[in-house]
Amino acid sequence: MSSLSVTSLNKSYGHVHAVVDVSFEVARGDVFALLGPNGAGKTTTIEILEGFLKRDSGDVRVLGVDPGVHANQRWLRSRVGVVLQELAVESFFTVRQVLERNAGFYPEPRAVDEVIELVGLRDKADVKVKKLSGGQQRRLDIGLGIVGNPLLLFLDEPTTGLDPAARRMTWELIRTLSQQGTTVMLSSHYMDEVEALACHVVVLSKGRIAASGTPSSLGGRDLGKVAISFSIPPGISVTDLPVAPSGCQGQRIEISTDCELEVLSRLTSWALVKDIQLVGLSVTRQTLEDVYLGLTRESLASSDGPRS
Ligand code: ATP
Repeated sequence: MSSLSVTSLNKSYGHVHAVVDVSFEVARGDVFALLGPNGAGKTTTIEILEGFLKRDSGDVRVLGVDPGVHANQRWLRSRVGVVLQELAVESFFTVRQVLERNAGFYPEPRAVDEVIELVGLRDKADVKVKKLSGGQQRRLDIGLGIVGNPLLLFLDEPTTGLDPAARRMTWELIRTLSQQGTTVMLSSHYMDEVEALACHVVVLSKGRIAASGTPSSLGGRDLGKVAISFSIPPGISVTDLPVAPSGCQGQRIEISTDCELEVLSRLTSWALVKDIQLVGLSVTRQTLEDVYLGLTRESLASSDGPRS
């Protein structure tokens, strides 16, 4: 059974078509990322999934039930975790106290000590929330999102403000949750994060799906050109190369190609026969950020969002 199923979803605010004919499915335990520039329709879609906003048309199932039906909302709230960008937590309670209090709202919560361990706040368990750093508060936000042992977790910008080590720890936590069967709906502006975590990405642009797929195949990324770059030693000229470069800066050469095997084979055979070093040889594909920017360029150029 899918954790999330959205079919032909539409939502307008007056004459602004915020979400237009959006469909996607998310399997149990998957990490799903919904991306798009400001005004693309992400929040509108997520708020419909969370049951906070009414849709105009289309079918939406969250853990198999319609979040737009009032009678399902209580059940859903006990099985869905939400980590918003900013949570209002009582600052005069300790970490353990706020987690224990929230655990009491759920039928089958996680053990509070396990949550404290998972979010890396063992040393801060008895410290008041107001004494936590911004990054530690963010980790507590995530703790509050998972203390109810949710089947589905909405994570909005989970690592904003975290230092690199805490960020990696949060990634590990998200992977652990996913392996344990929790479905994660991630929104993030960090493409490396999306690439590291998501199994499935949907890019919205002006309310519509601009692309959908895995991070490695999005927008034909796996089929696009690669950049091969290296430096040739002094005394070797660009004209000596067996392949015409696309660009060069001094001795640094760049070749852009969609036949990377053939180009690499010719280059490396030539270098081996002539005993020439190809210093710093690297082969890079377009980054996920390049693909994302290409897909959303039109929306970025006209930052006024969807039109009617
Ligand atoms: P951001 O990244 O800036 O949060 P978003 O992708 O979440 O953007 P939405 O907040 O869903 O985008 O907005 C989609 C469109 O709907 C935008 O054009 C926005 O101006 C419009 N919109 C959102 N909420 C309302 C509202 N309550 N009333 C009128 N228009 C709205």
